[in-house]
Amino acid sequence: MAAFCQHCGGVLHPTARFCSGCGAAVATVQPIPGQPLVRPHVGRMIGGVCLALAQANGWDVATVRILSVVGFFVSCGLVGVAYVAAWIGIPEETMIYPGAYPPRV
Ligand SMILES: [Zn+2]
Repeated sequence: MAAFCQHCGGVLHPTARFCSGCGAAVATVQPIPGQPLVRPHVGRMIGGVCLALAQANGWDVATVRILSVVGFFVSCGLVGVAYVAAWIGIPEETMIYPGAYPPRV
């Protein structure tokens, strides 16, 4: 999947932070939608539930967290119950250690 500069339309390197053609700053990297629903180890605040939902749906994790906190108070704690349920229900991201899996034959 190629990214394109919004300034000059040039093709951007996936990890580029600045356009090599015009030098314009590239928009911050957004979560990629369609990732499996797992709670990542990196970047989590409490249980990683907000992060898991954000990554799986391509949402902004900050927005998900704010909505969760607001929803917690608006729903008198119902969101908190849902959070714990999701915490239990959403699998933990699999830690991949080098050499942990036997090589495929
Ligand atoms: Zn450019």
